[in-house]
Amino acid sequence: MNEEKMTLKESVRLTLRAWCFYWKNTPRFVLSTVLWALADAVSPYAVVWFSARLVAELSDARDPQALAVDVAWVLGVTALLTLVRSVLLHWKSVEREQLNWQLGHDCFMEKQMSMDYADEDSQQVYDLYNFIQQSESFCSGGNPNAVALLDSVSAAVFRILGGAVLSVGLFTARVPAGPLTVLNSPLCVPAVLVLILAVAWLSPVCASSAGISSPDIEEEGRWGNRLWAFLMGVCRDDKKALDVRMYDQFEFLKDHAAVSMPAFERARKGKFGILNATGNAVSALLMGLAYLFVCLKAYGGAFGLGAVTQYVGAATNFFVGIGGLFTAVGDCRFNAPYLKTLYDYLDLPNKMYKGSLTTEKRSDRQYTVEFLDVSFRYPGSEQYALRHLSMTFKVGERLAVVGMNGSGKTTFIKLLCRLYDPTEGVILLNGIDIRKYRYDEYMDIFSVVFQDFKLFALPLGQNVATAQHYDVARAADCLQKAGFSDRLARMPKGLDTCLYKDLDEDGVTISGGEAQKIAIARALYKDAPFIVLDEPTAALDPVAEAEIYAKFNEIAGDKTAIYISHRLSSCKFCDEIAVFDHGEVVQQGTHEELLGEPDGKYYELWNAQAQYYTEESA
Ligand code: ADP
Repeated sequence: MNEEKMTLKESVRLTLRAWCFYWKNTPRFVLSTVLWALADAVSPYAVVWFSARLVAELSDARDPQALAVDVAWVLGVTALLTLVRSVLLHWKSVEREQLNWQLGHDCFMEKQMSMDYADEDSQQVYDLYNFIQQSESFCSGGNPNAVALLDSVSAAVFRILGGAVLSVGLFTARVPAGPLTVLNSPLCVPAVLVLILAVAWLSPVCASSAGISSPDIEEEGRWGNRLWAFLMGVCRDDKKALDVRMYDQFEFLKDHAAVSMPAFERARKGKFGILNATGNAVSALLMGLAYLFVCLKAYGGAFGLGAVTQYVGAATNFFVGIGGLFTAVGDCRFNAPYLKTLYDYLDLPNKMYKGSLTTEKRSDRQYTVEFLDVSFRYPGSEQYALRHLSMTFKVGERLAVVGMNGSGKTTFIKLLCRLYDPTEGVILLNGIDIRKYRYDEYMDIFSVVFQDFKLFALPLGQNVATAQHYDVARAADCLQKAGFSDRLARMPKGLDTCLYKDLDEDGVTISGGEAQKIAIARALYKDAPFIVLDEPTAALDPVAEAEIYAKFNEIAGDKTAIYISHRLSSCKFCDEIAVFDHGEVVQQGTHEELLGEPDGKYYELWNAQAQYYTEESA
C-alpha cells in the first residue's frame, strides 16, 4: 500500500508513535519489557564477572575458602537472576496479553465502530484493513514487529552499556613489553571500536537487507495469505458448505489459492536465503575477532586468565548489543511502511458532520420526516442510486416502498437512518436538517430489520434485547408479536437457549424464516418511533408471511412503519405506497389509486406478479 521507501527519521517517528501508544495504554507492558531486557542483559555479565573472579582465583592463589566464596557467588547470582528473569518474563507475557487486547480493541474494534458507515462500507477501507491483517500474519508487519523492536532495542541498549562498563579494562590494561606493546597504542581504542562497529554493522545489514528484499515477494505473499484466509473461511462457513459440496468448488478454489505458493517458496530461497546465510557467517567472524584481540593482549601479559574470561564475555555481548541495535534499525525501516498503513487506517477522519441538537423525546411520537429533492451517489460511483427524491411521511403512517431490485429502496432507508448523507438535497426531521441532531440520538428513533440482518450465537433473549440483562416479559411479548411464540415454546431453555452452535454445543440451529422473526422481535424490543422492515417476509413461508401481514398493524402499533417489498400483495394494507424505479419515485398513492393508473409502473408490476401467481396456481 505504501510503496515509497521510508526515511530513517520517518521510520523512527512511526515506531515511537507505536511505542507511545503502548506506554499510554499498557505502561506495565513497556515497564516489564524494559526490566526484562535489563535482567536479560545483566545476567550474562554477572555470570561473566563472577566466573572471571573464580578463574582468576583458580589460576592464582587457589585459596579454598576464597574459591568456595566465589563458587557460592556464581551459583547464588545465577540462581537469583534466573528467578528474576522468569518472574519478569511471566509478567511481560501477562502484560502482552493485555496489550494485544488493547490493540485489538482500540486499533480495530473501536475504530471500525466509530468510523463513518460510508467508510466502513467502502472497498478502499476494506482493502486497507485487509492489508494490515495480512501483513501481520505474513511477516508480523505493523504492531507485532514494533512490539518486538521494543524488546530488541531495550536488550541491545543494556547489552551495550554493560559491555562498555566491563570492557574498560580491556583497553586500559597495558602489555608490559614485546612486540605486542603495539596494542597499548591509544589508536587501538578507536581502531577496535571501528572494527566492532563495522563488523557489527555488516551482519545485521545483511540480515535486514534480506528482510527488506522481501517486499519483492510480499505483495504476492500477502495476496496469497488473503486467498488462504478466504479458502479457510469457505471451509468453515456452514452457509457456504452446501454450494461448495454441490458444485465441488473446493478443488477449484484451491487452485486459486495455490498461486500464492511460489511467493512463499521464493521467500526462503534466492537473495533472501543468501543474505541470511551471509549475515550468520559474519556473526561468527565477529565472535572470532573478539577472541583474537583479547587473547593477544593476554598473551602479551596485559592481564590474567580471569580477566580474559571477563573481556571475552563482555566484548562478545557488546558486539551482540551493537549488532542488535543495527538489526533494530533495519527492522524499524522494514516495519515502517506497515505502521504507516496502520496509521493511515487509524487516522481516517470521520467526515460526517455530527450535530449537537437532541431529538426531542416526544411521548406523542409526533415525528415528521421530509426528503427534499434528495439525490445520492455511493462514494466512488458515477451513477446516482437515488434522484430528486421528495416525500413526506408522518408518524403513525404505514408507508410501503416498492420497486424492482436495484431501484434504490434500501438506499432510501440508509439515507433515512443517516448511514450516508445525501449527495444533494436535505432530509428534515420535524423541519430540521437531520445532520444537526446528535447522531446517536437520531439513530435511537429507528428500528430497522435489514435484509441481511445478523443474529449472534448468543442466547435468544439477549439477541432480542441486545443486552445481557433484559426485561424477560417484554422480550417474550415481542417474540410473540413477531410470530415466534410456538417456536419459543419448543426452545429447550426458552429465552436462554443459545442460537447456533458456535459458542454452545446445545445451541439451536434456526431456519432463515425463524431468524427473520427474531430480527423483527429485536426491532420491536427497541421500541423506536420508526420501524423499518426491509423485505421482512422474504425468508418466511406463505403461512408465516400471511400471519405477519395479519398482525402488521398490531406489530407496528403507533409507530411509523416503512415497509419495503417487491411483493406488491404485501403492501396493499399500507396508507401510502411509493413506487421506486431507477432511483426515482415514479408514483405515490394508495393501492387502489395506483392500480387506477394503467400506464404506471405499479400497474405493470402488479400485473406481472398477479400473472405469475395465476399461472402457478393454474
Ligand atoms: P434495492 O434495495 O431497491 O434492491 P439498492 O438501494 O440496494 O436497491 O441499490 C440501488 C443501486 O445502488 C443499485 O444500482 C446498486 O447496485 C447500488 N448500490 C447499492 N449499494 C451500493 C454500494 N454500497 N456501493 C455502490 N453501489 C451500491
